[in-house]
Amino acid sequence: MPKYKNYTLRNFKDIPQISKLPEDYIFAIEVVGHVLPFKVNNYVIDELIDWDNYENDAIFTLTFPRKEMLKPHHFEAMADLLRRGASKEEIQKKANEIRFELNPHPAGQFKNIPKFNGKELKGIQHKYKETVLFFPSQGQTCHAYCSFCFRWPQFVGISELKFAMKEVELLIEYLSAHPEVTDVLFTGGDPLIMKTRVLEHYIRPLLEADLPNLQTIRIGTKALGFWPYRFLSDDDSDELLKLFEDIVKSGKHLAFMAHFNHQKELETPAVEKAVERILNTGAVIRTQSPVMKNINDDPQVWSSMWKKQVSMNMIPYYMFIARDTGAQHYFGVPLYKAYEIFKEAYKNVSGIARTVRGPSMSAEPGKIQVSGVTQINGEKVFVLNFLQGRNPNWVMRPFFAKYDESAMWVSDLEPAFDKRFFYEEELEKILAGDL
Ligand SMILES: *Cc1c(COP(=O)(O)O)cnc(C)c1O
Ligand code: SF4
Repeated sequence: MPKYKNYTLRNFKDIPQISKLPEDYIFAIEVVGHVLPFKVNNYVIDELIDWDNYENDAIFTLTFPRKEMLKPHHFEAMADLLRRGASKEEIQKKANEIRFELNPHPAGQFKNIPKFNGKELKGIQHKYKETVLFFPSQGQTCHAYCSFCFRWPQFVGISELKFAMKEVELLIEYLSAHPEVTDVLFTGGDPLIMKTRVLEHYIRPLLEADLPNLQTIRIGTKALGFWPYRFLSDDDSDELLKLFEDIVKSGKHLAFMAHFNHQKELETPAVEKAVERILNTGAVIRTQSPVMKNINDDPQVWSSMWKKQVSMNMIPYYMFIARDTGAQHYFGVPLYKAYEIFKEAYKNVSGIARTVRGPSMSAEPGKIQVSGVTQINGEKVFVLNFLQGRNPNWVMRPFFAKYDESAMWVSDLEPAFDKRFFYEEELEKILAGDL
């Protein structure tokens, strides 16, 4: 079984398959890789990417920077510096300049950081009543990086933007003080980048604290897609599975939130075996992905993915709409199209796979689903619906926006039949801290 080996800008030219690419592709990787996160590993290279067809290969596009991912003026500015051998400082400065023009923290994530005993808990986000997100400080990287990732500011060392927290004790105190919380979601980066003994340092105290409100421990991870050997043959794979088993034995539900973008990630012997081992611990695997141009903007990809997931005993959970960040001009799918892709895929799978919900925007007020397109009194509208809301009362209450084929996000939409969306006034009060 392979040992994990990763490649970044520093050494990617050592990848044998890369040396066969045309010069301008290799240069583009270098240029774009100076701005957007870039890390890939031997599993992705050897088992997922079809190198005979790399230009159209979804996993190549998912992991390797490509020229089109930067706007032409950004690309040229960076290419210019590299061509004339500019200093490290100059390159770094330009890279940061470009990054700050790419909307590094979309959808107001900073507004979800709670205050507790007068201190901001930087490693926690608490937006929806039942679920707390926890960002363990050693889990803020991944086995490879997705070129579309909205967490990219955490990987490129803009340190003041980093969410992280070491103290699990604070998390436990927070949970004790908030009996309405039933779920803790470990996220990152990818928390399963951590060695088992580090992850244990977070999870065992949580189990020992025996919090009556805590029902579910979720782990949000792309390890099944990017490094299934994490569950098979890493030095501490068996200990990791033992930890999963102990979570289940303690009476908590272990929800493994697996990130898959394409059915190709479900087809290797390694991922099949890894899924089997995880399920044998008693964990349940739910799956989610954003819908993205140039990767999976095709209903066929989604229905195959959901069917294959069900056949592997996983549960399709969410389809997200890509946030407006990073290479959005390259990956963005308009709302009307995301809805069509969802509908076409959904109607072609059995009810067993229709556990999936979407397409959904994780926006400022909540998770907003585009649940239909229809005509009301002769006006064509989007039907929208909260799957999660900052105020739980907003959930499952349909509302309408003017149909607009260029809209990519809720902020591009105008209310139909009304001046404002029903939640807007209340949202302002909540964000101002008045509610
Ligand atoms: C999606 C999300 C959750 C989890 O929502 P579920 O619908 O329960 O899966 C929790 N917090 C934030 C900030 C989220 O975006
Ligand atoms: S695995 Fe998740 S956090 Fe890591 S780069 Fe991909 S989308 Fe971002």
